[in-house]
Amino acid sequence: MISSKMDRPHAVIIFFFLLLFLPISSLHATEYYGLRLSGSDCFLCHTAPEIGTLNQTGVQFQEEGYRYPMTLKGVLFNILGGPIVFILFFSFYRRYRLWHIGKGKIRWGQWRERWKGLLSNGFGHRTLFRSFFPGIGHFLLFWSFLILSLGVTAVILQEYFIFPLWRVRFIDSNTYPFLRLLFDLFGVLGWLGTILLIVRRYILKPRELDEQRTDACSLVILFFIFLTGFLATGIRNQIYQSPWTSWSPVADSISSFLLRWKMDENHLKIFFSLFWWSHLILSLAFISCIPFSKLLHLFSSPLSILLRNLEVKGTLKKIDLEASETFGVTHLEEFTWKDLLELDGCTRCGRCQENCPAHLTGKPLNPKGVIQNLKRHLADLSRAKGNSKLIGDVVTEEEIWECTTCRNCLEHCPIFIEPMAKLLEFRRSLVLNQGKVPKETHFAFRNIERKGNPWGFEPSKRMFWTKELGLKTVIPGEKTDLLFWIGCYGSYDDRNIKVAESLARILNQAGLNFGVLGSSEWCCGIDLRRMGSEYLFQVNVEKNIEQLKRLEFKKMITTCPHCFNTLKNEYAQFGADFEVIHYTDLVEELIQQNKIRLRRRNEKIKITYHDSCYLGRYNEGYEPPRRILRAMEDFSFTEMEKSREKSFCCGGGGCHMWMEERTGKRINETRILQALDKEAEILTTVCPLCLTQLDSAVKVLNADDRIRVRDILELVVERMET
Ligand code: SF4
Ligand code: SF4
Repeated sequence: MISSKMDRPHAVIIFFFLLLFLPISSLHATEYYGLRLSGSDCFLCHTAPEIGTLNQTGVQFQEEGYRYPMTLKGVLFNILGGPIVFILFFSFYRRYRLWHIGKGKIRWGQWRERWKGLLSNGFGHRTLFRSFFPGIGHFLLFWSFLILSLGVTAVILQEYFIFPLWRVRFIDSNTYPFLRLLFDLFGVLGWLGTILLIVRRYILKPRELDEQRTDACSLVILFFIFLTGFLATGIRNQIYQSPWTSWSPVADSISSFLLRWKMDENHLKIFFSLFWWSHLILSLAFISCIPFSKLLHLFSSPLSILLRNLEVKGTLKKIDLEASETFGVTHLEEFTWKDLLELDGCTRCGRCQENCPAHLTGKPLNPKGVIQNLKRHLADLSRAKGNSKLIGDVVTEEEIWECTTCRNCLEHCPIFIEPMAKLLEFRRSLVLNQGKVPKETHFAFRNIERKGNPWGFEPSKRMFWTKELGLKTVIPGEKTDLLFWIGCYGSYDDRNIKVAESLARILNQAGLNFGVLGSSEWCCGIDLRRMGSEYLFQVNVEKNIEQLKRLEFKKMITTCPHCFNTLKNEYAQFGADFEVIHYTDLVEELIQQNKIRLRRRNEKIKITYHDSCYLGRYNEGYEPPRRILRAMEDFSFTEMEKSREKSFCCGGGGCHMWMEERTGKRINETRILQALDKEAEILTTVCPLCLTQLDSAVKVLNADDRIRVRDILELVVERMET
């Protein structure tokens, strides 16, 4: 077993609460709750429930207030409930100890942001509602669970703290009917939510859901908890003919079918006891399942949302190379405390899996599988099985290298779990501790290190074309408004040189003062970092920052979303504070301000747009490209099914431009087929990697006569009035 870092004060606090809770809940409150809310109302028998008063049948009220004397029923309940509550708390304590084998501290800062996220994503189900059916089912069940629990807590607080201390009751004969109505309505909503989730899981059977024994168990138990609760309440109403009967209309309607049989009071009481005990035993069974099933997410998921990573989206964790002895994650305990909490927060909903391009094209990577395997390993360790080594035992190298860093898994996870970040930590471990990278990427690494570009071209040949266009090279001491960061593709790749030239023509046409870096520009280093080579990445960053700091410019502009993300978000981790924009922002502005005018053409071409992961999901640049396309009136724009935050990857990110795709379908070809489904004649994009990947897929699929891939800049330049 792994030794825990949990300190004694934490353990003492948890046990203190446990001891405090036990007498309240199992010895008193549950008795009260059980009898009063599901059993009977003392107001029904005692018009003035005070010690010594008699009811109509001459029975004396025996305790102060609404409390009941201990009955056989109560004793039995405590025998059942006490140990379950104890097991529940003890299991939480064990989970807590287990999370604490991870390193790092809890993220305490930015509380306003954290609570806002919890309210909108946890309570409001914002991300869950991206898929309506599971979203609504879960939403109904969640709110029902919450309101019913709060109602019970309010009763317990009143009866055991507020009334004894201050003699105040906020739930009295005036407000109690509303509490019953609330329980009735939220009960039926929860029941409906449960039914929707059962229908989805067992009738619709979506691909992303896998099945574990406890799933059926918890849904069936929930279904019957609601049903027996309604039946017990409805029959109680019938027995006592309470003046508040009409305040639980759903329970009355549901139980009415039983009441069609003419039963005498004794039979009704037998049925009432049957449903009451079933309700109680099922509720206790449900509670006892929580620590051992995915129901644990009732607690771990909100915690995971609250403590989520609030770093800027496009950044990876910076490693302090000098202070670290090992890098990335090789063993479980090298993850952070929060990473391990996330494993328990995973609900196995499969949203990450259903949006992962690697998984969808048949590669041996499934982000949900990675998280679940890590979770199982964590549980095994708690039972002293196996060792904490991960790479090779729990996650394979193949899985680790298949990730294209498209960010889909992070974007769609309702719990803010980060499978991609974990895979990249494994890459760091492989590269920095063991010197392992896929063979075919060696040359790109070496070339970036020596020549500042992945192909190994001479730095002096970088952006040779800019001279032909007469572009100014910015030098120290000379002020420029815009520094055009051209990037490796725009400098050396023929197809992308045309795109970079297009931007230069547009900037010239708009009369902007801009310049380029010339041969002193060096690869921004994104692929080095995504491959796990943090050391080489940091060398590149320092070299570029040093170079850039010598120049005077207001903004940097780039055509490449990968360079854009790195320069804007990741260089800031190293002290850079340059303003960086992607060309789509500026070109859209120039069109709106009429600084460039677009000619009208008398044709209507069907066009669609492929969102680049690094502009879209990483930097939320969804609108500007679409607005530019709409400004060109000869296009009829159609949206692909997988667009915006759901956009499918081109397959080139995460260093996959330099890797072979050996298994499954090719990601870039899959994307082209999606565009062909829309019968689009032109597929547009705003990224050199996407352009290269998609263009080559069109050729492989022999689809040149049906679709062309163009960068938006090329289309703008073709229509620009000069
Ligand atoms: S980042 Fe993309 S490719 Fe990588 S695991 Fe997540 S969804 Fe899959
Ligand atoms: S990691 Fe997130 S998206 Fe993936 S299965 Fe778990 S909860 Fe769902």
